[in-house]
Amino acid sequence: METRMDAFMIAPCGMNCGICMAHQREKNHCSGCRDDTREKSKYCAKCIIANCDKRDGKDADFCYVCDVYPCVRLKALDKRYRTNYEMSMLENLDYIKKHGIENFVENEKIRWACDTCDGLICVHRGYCFVCGKPE
Ligand code: SF4
Ligand code: SF4
Ligand SMILES: [Zn+2]
Repeated sequence: METRMDAFMIAPCGMNCGICMAHQREKNHCSGCRDDTREKSKYCAKCIIANCDKRDGKDADFCYVCDVYPCVRLKALDKRYRTNYEMSMLENLDYIKKHGIENFVENEKIRWACDTCDGLICVHRGYCFVCGKPE
């Protein structure tokens, strides 16, 4: 399965959908948080953060534009990812706010690059789905 890695793949919460297991796998593949035209995971289609209207009408569709940023829900998600996957949505969002989405995407390509192919390391599994699980 080919993975996509560009600004479109960065969700409003700061998640990089390009490194998500559901995006990288072939079975039950998810095309990313911002894609409403193709199959998105049922879990994320119902995501309260993705569907939150507190960002409506603001300049950027990232949670940092919100009056109550970071809300309790976003902080809980961030804590879960920092604890389980050594990744922070809030750090991502702070970076995007300061340096722009294009710089963020370029850094992410480097940060998650697979050593042996063009693929990206999956944040949930810790290996590249293109090469397969390392022995
Ligand atoms: S499952 Fe959720 S986090 Fe993963 S790619 Fe789909 S929308 Fe993004
Ligand atoms: S930070 Fe604001 S926009 Fe983002 S999910 Fe929380 S309430 Fe909604
Ligand atoms: Zn690889």
